[in-house]
Amino acid sequence: MHRINAVFQDYAWGSRSFIQNFLKLPQEGPIAEAWYSAHPKAPSLVNGFPFTELITADPVYWLGSPQGDFPFLLKILAADEALSIQVHPSKQQAEEGFRAENLKGVPQNSPIRNYKDSNHKPEMMLALTDFSALCGIRRFPDIVAAFQDLGLSRFFRSFTEFQHKQDSASFCTLYQEVLHKEKLPGLHEHLHTLPESEPWKDEIQWIKKLIEQYPEDRSVVSPLLLNLIHLKPMEALFLDAGIVHAYLHGAGIEIMAQSDNVLRAGLSPKHIDVPELLKIMQKQPYSPLLYPAAPGINMWHYYPVPVPDFLLSRIQLDGNTTLPQIPGPKILMCIEGSVFAQGTTGEMHLHQADSAIIPAAEPNAILSGKGHIVLASCGNLPS
Ligand SMILES: [Zn+2]
Repeated sequence: MHRINAVFQDYAWGSRSFIQNFLKLPQEGPIAEAWYSAHPKAPSLVNGFPFTELITADPVYWLGSPQGDFPFLLKILAADEALSIQVHPSKQQAEEGFRAENLKGVPQNSPIRNYKDSNHKPEMMLALTDFSALCGIRRFPDIVAAFQDLGLSRFFRSFTEFQHKQDSASFCTLYQEVLHKEKLPGLHEHLHTLPESEPWKDEIQWIKKLIEQYPEDRSVVSPLLLNLIHLKPMEALFLDAGIVHAYLHGAGIEIMAQSDNVLRAGLSPKHIDVPELLKIMQKQPYSPLLYPAAPGINMWHYYPVPVPDFLLSRIQLDGNTTLPQIPGPKILMCIEGSVFAQGTTGEMHLHQADSAIIPAAEPNAILSGKGHIVLASCGNLPS
């Protein structure tokens, strides 16, 4: 096993304190993400070398296979402000979209490019703090009730049709109107006057926060169209292909397939392609896939997802344990306390925020000590 050091992304929405405190970094500005991966854009350092170079030199040792990419991207993410509303394509949609943009000659680094690669990008967020997000379309009757209760029906012309039909097609027409770039006269002024009272108190509070960030953007009403989710620490949320979502606030450990494919739907200064977005988006109401924190000392707790790309596991250790038997490379992160890890060829102390990469060729390790550990691996549950 080897120590792996993160590389950082300082996006403006990042927290000014969480990752800095967690990893004991001196930086004053925002840090949005710490990446642990072999992503070509920002590979982590392993033994002082870019991880991508080590894998190219000996793929069998690291990946367990003579070819292929490191399967997942692990991040610590800390958001003080909301991230864009977005959707990720399925594998098939990504392959088709990537091919189509290549044929059209859209340059790889063009800001209007939708598909940066041909892979899907399912994601899971494991909360480290209280964490708020928007995820999936609400039940249609709830959207109708919210728009009526809060006097929004008069601002959106397509609302009447949606109110009558309450189907996916009329939702898409309404959503298109919500995502339109042009400012709606009087909308933000009206939203400002809404009382923060039940049953829409939480949603209105979020709308008012979003207005501060995006004073011109109609899609600040999204908390009324999408499910508003609150995670407690160690609860998790899975985001599959086609599910419209946005992280609003909080810090957590995020794991995803190795891909950059993001179609944005709003709350973003970046490129938004509404027709392409509506093409790949799931247009039915959706119940988010949530995972409980499940306490339990000295027991591995799994967060199984319906994709093969990754699996998060967690243990609160007081004593010793062996690593779950999961093939492929793994990343071990100590999120609290201190643990001694003994692998076949190496050993190390992991204190809070230390991480180790366990190569596919050295799958066995014994952990001992008192600490809280998260394990990232490929998607197979241990046999
Ligand atoms: Zn996403």
